[in-house]
Amino acid sequence: MKTGLYCHIPFCASTCDFCAFYQEKPIRSDLNAYLSGMDLEFKTLGSNQSIDTIFWGGGTPSLLPAKDLERLGKSMLQSINHDFKEWTVEMAPSTVKKDKLAVFKAMGVTRLSLGVQSFDQDLLTHLGRLHNTNQIYKAWELIDQSGIENTNIDLMFALPNQTLDQLASDLKEAHRLGASHISTYCLTFEEDTALYVKLSQGKLKLDVERERMFYEFTWDTMKSLGFEQYEISNFSNSKETQCLHNLNTWKMNNWIGCGPSAASQVDKMRYRNTSAISSWLNGLQSNIPVREEEIKLTESILLIDSLVFGLRMNQGINLSALKAKYPSVTFFDSIDDLMSRLVDEGYLNCSGDRFVLTREGQLKCDAIGSELMQLG
Ligand code: SF4
Repeated sequence: MKTGLYCHIPFCASTCDFCAFYQEKPIRSDLNAYLSGMDLEFKTLGSNQSIDTIFWGGGTPSLLPAKDLERLGKSMLQSINHDFKEWTVEMAPSTVKKDKLAVFKAMGVTRLSLGVQSFDQDLLTHLGRLHNTNQIYKAWELIDQSGIENTNIDLMFALPNQTLDQLASDLKEAHRLGASHISTYCLTFEEDTALYVKLSQGKLKLDVERERMFYEFTWDTMKSLGFEQYEISNFSNSKETQCLHNLNTWKMNNWIGCGPSAASQVDKMRYRNTSAISSWLNGLQSNIPVREEEIKLTESILLIDSLVFGLRMNQGINLSALKAKYPSVTFFDSIDDLMSRLVDEGYLNCSGDRFVLTREGQLKCDAIGSELMQLG
């Protein structure tokens, strides 16, 4: 089975207003503890473990100085095969530097993902992002010169006060810069974020109809720009530039997470490393990794997750193939009934064994996912 390696780099210079991820300020002692822990965790990977894809995410991976990135990369490469197909690193515009890009290129990074969110300075300020528009362009110039050709730009939409014209400018700008992949995320209000506080105080309002309008506008604009949508939030300029690491995850293959708070799905188990750097490091040093949310994966769980994540992809799901893959599941009749109802209601298209969400279905994919999860 294909296996991805996810490395979590949990450091951020400041906290964005919409962010609910675990992250720490980059204090030297914590960075050193983190790097020592990663050395130990990489050694646990096992020499016969074949890695297909690598993803360094955060936090802000590119916040680390070049010498730390090099140490982390070399440590990882000592523990894994070198014939992986993809290695993505997430970068924040204010942290992109020539020496870090040179380290990435020399170590074999194949893909860079820049967290732009918007090119509009006012919108960036309201999101609490640390970077400004000038830094985005400077970062992109360096990425362009780095020799790493596979590039993603992350954008957000349905931001407070954002207009469709502003969104159109963002999408067109990402295309004009030459990104081979663009991810577009609808703003969500997670608990314990600054935006959620504003929502609870009535300073912001949830507007489902507005979100729907932004989704549809994004999908139409991306199509007109020549990008193919392959997942609700992901677009590429060719099949070759789709993100293999994410595809592997959505198809419920294996992935191993290294680093504080990183999740893994491997050997029919799913778990998350503890978040605090000190307890994560202590666990690794004493050979008893501290894990949370550990569950044994049954065929029922894997089937439901394959349906929920599979339907988010434009290729949809092959129900017969899933029935053959998870033969011990006992509630296929209920799934067949739900699929038939979703087809009748215009949310799903069915062609042979394959089910694909219609546009209405894509707009309702969270609700459809909830219905599926109730069957499991
Ligand atoms: S850079 Fe990413 S992980 Fe860090 S605070 Fe902002 S959204 Fe969260």
